Amino acid sequence: LDKGLIVSFGEMLIDFVPTQSGVSLAESTGFLKAPGGAPANVAIAVTRLGGRAAFVGKLGDDEFGHMLAGILRENGVEDKGINFDKGARTALAFVTLRSDGDREFMFYRNPSADMLLRPDELNLELIRSAKVFHYGSISLITEPCRSAHLKAMEVAKEAGALLSYDPNLREPLWSSPEEARTQIMSIWDKAEIIKVSDVELEFLTQNKTIDDESAMSLWHPNLKLLLVTLGEKGCRYYTKGFHGSVEAFDVNAVDTTGAGDSFIGAFLSQIVDDQTVLEEEERLRKVLRFANACGAITTTKKGAIPALPSEYDALSLLKD
Ligand code: ADP
Repeated sequence: LDKGLIVSFGEMLIDFVPTQSGVSLAESTGFLKAPGGAPANVAIAVTRLGGRAAFVGKLGDDEFGHMLAGILRENGVEDKGINFDKGARTALAFVTLRSDGDREFMFYRNPSADMLLRPDELNLELIRSAKVFHYGSISLITEPCRSAHLKAMEVAKEAGALLSYDPNLREPLWSSPEEARTQIMSIWDKAEIIKVSDVELEFLTQNKTIDDESAMSLWHPNLKLLLVTLGEKGCRYYTKGFHGSVEAFDVNAVDTTGAGDSFIGAFLSQIVDDQTVLEEEERLRKVLRFANACGAITTTKKGAIPALPSEYDALSLLKD
């Protein structure tokens, strides 16, 4: 039997990461290319675990864009939803974690191809075939991509897909925190599954205390499941009927990039064909243990895409 399709919508870009660790961008003498972008990472997280995924988004018709499309294809991600922009170039980011602990970012996005996806370019047939439609927030920032995002979400919903949202606030592309909050909240009540990190929960509630009350303040009537990831502390889950937490795995974390994408991709791959899991706590906890295992494995290797686990990797950690 064919597995259900997970369509992941949004950006894909290349992170240039310094070859030495702890340096500022200005100090770096060389960079490594790390393909990423949360929605693309999620699509690959799904296929690496044996699921079916498609990526919908736009790349530049340039060397980097074709390299990224190739990475999706090599990983078994369906490419019929990828558009190439004739004018604008593929998004690029220069990212470093400085020795003072701060992340420094520089973006090539003025605008980049990913922000230029138009509603009329969407592959609606592909989107209508999704069992789960997953998306982030960066595509909400400017037109025409915002309209494309809203349309894709609506078409997927009408066709019966489950809507899954990860705001992914890490990339500081908004002009202000208020703008970020407003845009995220403008689509908040559409999603049926939402995954936020503890940092995002704090940002969205503007409340420093991370507890059940602050999480539940974000609840809305269409929501079936709210997931809060807590890094090495695992995750918390909230549904209409029950809530609780699932512990993380004890691993030697070297780079947490992509852990959240791995977590949500793994989660979606396990519920796409049977959404009754969302209503049964014991089964939900089992799936979250699997997702925590996948997140943990992703932290044990550098980069996001190279560190996403296979089903064998995940089951091996679960057996230990
Ligand atoms: P995000 O990448 O969105 O900030 P987290 O860092 O919370 O998300 O990671 C997502 C999941 O990955 C966590 O819920 C956890 O299961 C796993 N994880 C992340 N960091 C670690 C860690 N240091 N040790 C073990 N598991 C981790």
